Amino acid sequence: MSKEGSNTCSGSEFDALGGQIMAWADALAQHTDSAGMMTRTYLTPAHHGAAQQLACWMEEAGMQVRRDQAGNVIGRYEAAQPGAPALMTGSHFDTVRNGGIYDGMLGVLLPIACVQRWNRQGKRFPFALEIAGFAEEEGVRFSATLLGSRAIAGTFVHAVLDNVDEAGVSMRAALAQAGFDPALLDSARYGPASLLGFLEVHIEQGPVLLHAGAPVGVVSAISGASRFAVEVQGQAGHAGTVPMAGRRDAAMAAAEIALYIEQRCQGVPGLVGTVGQFQVPHGAANVVPGKAVFSIDIRACRDQDRENAVADVLEAARRVAERRGVELALRRTHEAPSVPCAERLQQQLAASIERLGLPLHRLPSGAGHDAMALAAIADVAMLFVRCGNGGISHSPDETMTAADAATAAQVFSDFVEHFN
Ligand SMILES: [Zn+2]
Repeated sequence: MSKEGSNTCSGSEFDALGGQIMAWADALAQHTDSAGMMTRTYLTPAHHGAAQQLACWMEEAGMQVRRDQAGNVIGRYEAAQPGAPALMTGSHFDTVRNGGIYDGMLGVLLPIACVQRWNRQGKRFPFALEIAGFAEEEGVRFSATLLGSRAIAGTFVHAVLDNVDEAGVSMRAALAQAGFDPALLDSARYGPASLLGFLEVHIEQGPVLLHAGAPVGVVSAISGASRFAVEVQGQAGHAGTVPMAGRRDAAMAAAEIALYIEQRCQGVPGLVGTVGQFQVPHGAANVVPGKAVFSIDIRACRDQDRENAVADVLEAARRVAERRGVELALRRTHEAPSVPCAERLQQQLAASIERLGLPLHRLPSGAGHDAMALAAIADVAMLFVRCGNGGISHSPDETMTAADAATAAQVFSDFVEHFN
């Protein structure tokens, strides 16, 4: 397996790192908001416990650790010449409700394990390596996403400090209760020239690598997304007395639009369309629906593919509404362009994968990630790691193997050792 040279290492050494990463993920999962499931939301006691634990492992691995005013945990493995600029890596340590234990955490734990190995070898690089455990990405508690990485990128929107959780606690108050000063949030920010690049390791959260038989993949771009909330107003009536002809059924109009979305988004690589919410408010079995509300989510790695699909869907929706005699109210709720991964970093990742004799697989990311926020201040790249269980994520059924953790650690180590 291994060749002679400073950058190589026996397979068994990385097998041990893989085991370490999996054991840490299990241990970190004990910090949960609700016993018996993996739920860790921003600024709760469990969230604080996980941060403390990560800081402890970073310190033991040979890093200097600090927490910023957004609650991010940042470890720095100093360069050969102290004070040199840093290559940053990392991911989030919050979770969705009843989620998995690798989503996010893998991208924090894996680099810590690699630093631990370099520190034992006394190996330093011409650059510092910083590992960020981003405090918030999923948006569960305060309905705003990417809070940790946005604070670092300097794109944190201060208006969200007034968002409240289910108990009515504002983010501003929760930060203060946790010992942070919301007025100092901007101190978390890194200057645009302070990072040499950002690499996020993350489980794929889909089945592509699993089906391709590849343990890791290089992400080409993080898909852009357009989201809409749609309200259809028709005419309610008695299910028994209103004849079929001339009905203005809001739910059937919504259904026809939803089916169009499914059909339109098929067959274009990287394009996906989803109607994830679909309701007939106050509907009853014996009433022709007078109102329907639904959501539209359209994503693509190429912005042009997404914009074309959105234009076609809006046009089709208007046609359906006209023909069926219903009113449409469409509100755009989210719009984000795709974020391409930097070509030079993709090439360096690909070179590491090929040096290790692994299959090279490139794929877009349909899900959003912290790397999207970091792209505001640095070139970004992502290394995806294969999921088990059909690629399920955001679920307790999310799995991955120690062998894949070991392989990803080997790719990550090779990337850092050759980074330029
Ligand atoms: Zn994630």
